[in-house]
Amino acid sequence: MRLTNTLTGKKEEFAPLHPPRVSLYVCGVTVYDDCHVGHIRGAVVFDVLRRYLEALGFQVTHVRNVTDIDDKIIERTREELKETAQAGDLKASVQELARRFEASFRSDFKKLNLLPPHQEPRATEFIDRMIVFIEMLLARGAAYVGSDGVYFSVRKIEKYGALSRQRLQEMRQGVRVEAGEGKKDPFDFALWKRSKPEEPSWASPWGPGRPGWHIECSAMSTVLLGDAFDIHGGGQDLIFPHHENELAQALGAGKPFARVWLHHGLLTVNGQKMSKSLGNVVRISDALSRHSAEVLRLFFLLAHYRSPLDFTWERLQEAAAAYERLLDFVTQVEQRVGSGSEEAAEPVDRARDDFHAAMADDLNTPQALAALNRLVTQGHSWLDQKGGAAQPKLRHAAKTLGELAGLLGLGLRQEIPRKVQDLIRQRDELRNKKEFQAADEIRGKIAEEGYLLEDTAGRTVVRRKV
Ligand SMILES: [Zn+2]
Repeated sequence: MRLTNTLTGKKEEFAPLHPPRVSLYVCGVTVYDDCHVGHIRGAVVFDVLRRYLEALGFQVTHVRNVTDIDDKIIERTREELKETAQAGDLKASVQELARRFEASFRSDFKKLNLLPPHQEPRATEFIDRMIVFIEMLLARGAAYVGSDGVYFSVRKIEKYGALSRQRLQEMRQGVRVEAGEGKKDPFDFALWKRSKPEEPSWASPWGPGRPGWHIECSAMSTVLLGDAFDIHGGGQDLIFPHHENELAQALGAGKPFARVWLHHGLLTVNGQKMSKSLGNVVRISDALSRHSAEVLRLFFLLAHYRSPLDFTWERLQEAAAAYERLLDFVTQVEQRVGSGSEEAAEPVDRARDDFHAAMADDLNTPQALAALNRLVTQGHSWLDQKGGAAQPKLRHAAKTLGELAGLLGLGLRQEIPRKVQDLIRQRDELRNKKEFQAADEIRGKIAEEGYLLEDTAGRTVVRRKV
């Protein structure tokens, strides 16, 4: 399998350090608000990468952190306390808010059929390991103690800027020194921030405080996956400064760190960045109130993971149509052809080969989906043939389609609930008695349960709404 490594800028053959094991670290959510569809893109991309690596026989260890202490979390808690005019304890409220939004993102992620990571470390549970990491950086001269905390000395790292392909001189413009920061060089960044008395804090050799965001990931990834691991992933917005700084910290501590860096493109809404101030935030619950989780997943997979992606309700509707086409074909075969023997066929083999070739080429999901679509087109021509000669090929095509879609996390099987089955039976009886108006009313009831009926070729096919 070939993957595009941000660190080298090249598409490379993926070779893990300790096959068949693969270690994968993905930057997770900072829990200070509900998740929106922009957060989900990364979760879906790395879920599909993991599923595909597992299908290739690798044993993936997937770690995704939860950032549950951060300036944004403290700020949001202060706002909430002010809004509700509570004099509450800031420390306790920060934790309560972080746990509340963590529960919210977990419930959203669960609905999306995302494989749960093997470990989901919370930053606040690894503070002692971050302190050890910072002590190591101080001992090696890659960090120093300033007036308000501990800082990383960027100029100590010769390769700084390698990941984001920038040189220090060029970065200067984007850097600004915040008032009161005790750093020696504007490029340096905080490893440990001394806390104000009312803020959450942990004891450290440098006084009570909290860790910087970047040290969190360097410490947790190396503790859980080792000093050298295979893949580090995240959105392109994390390349600089977050991932550049994570890498610098690891190098400063003498650790080789991640070998392959994967970054997915960002999501816009109608061509604009999604933000609260623009009022265009699409929450996961908004999207799921209109379409199923499979449709939302397919929407992401219709674009290559590295490309930018624009969210519009029309495009989500297009994804629904694409999913419907796959589901409809499998349903037609299940209900019109039924079970029985299977027969291999060249177009099915070709679709499978094309699918795998696309996935192995830097996880090219749009091409992989195109291969599935071609299989459906072929399948329909078999469905149109008279007589039962094409039936074994159709069963084989539908089964293959289901297996390949499953590698993308897309379910094409459907259980028709008992209640819906009973309604269909009632409707058939009414139609046999030519009581068409009553039969139509039952169709409405079936639709309310989330199922559609289609009368084709003298048979009724039932399928869930997407
Ligand atoms: Zn991170």
